[in-house]
Amino acid sequence: PDNSAPPMPWFGMDIGGTLTKLVYFEPRESNRRELDKETEVLKNIRRYLTRNSAYGNTGRRDVHLQMDNVTIRNRRGTLHFIRFPSSEVGAFLQLARSKGMAALVNTIYATGGGAYKFEEDFIKEVNMRLDKLDELDALIAGVLFVEAMNPQECYYWAPLEEHPVHEHASDTPPYSEQALSMYVRKPYDFSNPYPFILVNIGSGVSVLVVTGPDDCRRVSGTSLGGGTFLGLCCLLTGCASFEEALALAARGDNTPVDKLVRDIYGGDYARFRLPGDLVASSFGHMCAAERRAAVSRADLARATLVTITNNIGSIARLCALNENIDKVVFCGNFLRVNPLSMKLLSYAMAYWSRGALKALFLQHEGYFGAVGCLLQFDD
Ligand code: ADP
Repeated sequence: PDNSAPPMPWFGMDIGGTLTKLVYFEPRESNRRELDKETEVLKNIRRYLTRNSAYGNTGRRDVHLQMDNVTIRNRRGTLHFIRFPSSEVGAFLQLARSKGMAALVNTIYATGGGAYKFEEDFIKEVNMRLDKLDELDALIAGVLFVEAMNPQECYYWAPLEEHPVHEHASDTPPYSEQALSMYVRKPYDFSNPYPFILVNIGSGVSVLVVTGPDDCRRVSGTSLGGGTFLGLCCLLTGCASFEEALALAARGDNTPVDKLVRDIYGGDYARFRLPGDLVASSFGHMCAAERRAAVSRADLARATLVTITNNIGSIARLCALNENIDKVVFCGNFLRVNPLSMKLLSYAMAYWSRGALKALFLQHEGYFGAVGCLLQFDD
């Protein structure tokens, strides 16, 4: 074993605008001697984290994302992925304190705005110093590491039919259940990644150009992100959670809410290859009182999802065009349990680029910043 390695426990943390992501490295229990050296406090922390999948009222472990056989600093072990709302950082610190964390002299590598905002609280409550990392550096490092460790990490949504999606696009409404059900998930070989565009859809959105492992720049972004979707959905439908908003969107229809090309032209706008079913004006029907009276909560949720997703898709596409890059990788927790947005993005990328652009997705969606922090233990 590496005696210069920093003491356990090893955590990486990303305290974002909405969610805090915590990645925990559980060392493998193969070495009896090392295990005996483990203090009671460490043992308790390890057991508590790995034997539960819910912590307090709002903490969750994404068991399906767990990664076994990961090597960091010559130690083999398992990565565990945990999240809780950033509004609960106080409760998290109390819990950590009650598990004896304050007794361990330790540093946590952390990123996200909360690493600054809550720095004092970490010292006061659990005697932990936050070693802060830039969130975009951490994000890229995390993506590259996880992708290299997990052959299934990167995937795309492929149209079921033989002919490419852009050829039959105009006879199939892009937002209909029928069109979206025609997509299947397929693994993508990301072993030659560069250059690629990385679109991180969190509370807000950042668009990065990545040309090498240590070479990235932020080229664009938008404040209309996952936080906007959830905020508007709560306002418009009275829903109370992301899961509820997505469930509503899944059974809604955006066409009573949005004004489509055919609502204006009576059909396609053929000259500019604009299909009749394309949204011409998001929420454009909602100016009329009788239309407002006729829409359901589910329709409003669906229209909000389509609006936010397509706007992000079009910004991503313009960036790809501008940078002359054909791979666009989407990550961030807005895509968590959200195949609808992934399919919409896949469709929009292929359609508007006539098949030249590929939308790619990553299994560990929102956890890359936290993984990037954990990798500091590797140096
Ligand atoms: P941030 O670092 O800004 O918190 P994330 O990548 O964690 O960003 O994504 C946050 C977004 O993910 C939210 O705005 C929301 O759209 C979506 N989301 C997914 N799961 C949840 C959840 N359990 N609670 C709140 N938002 C969620």
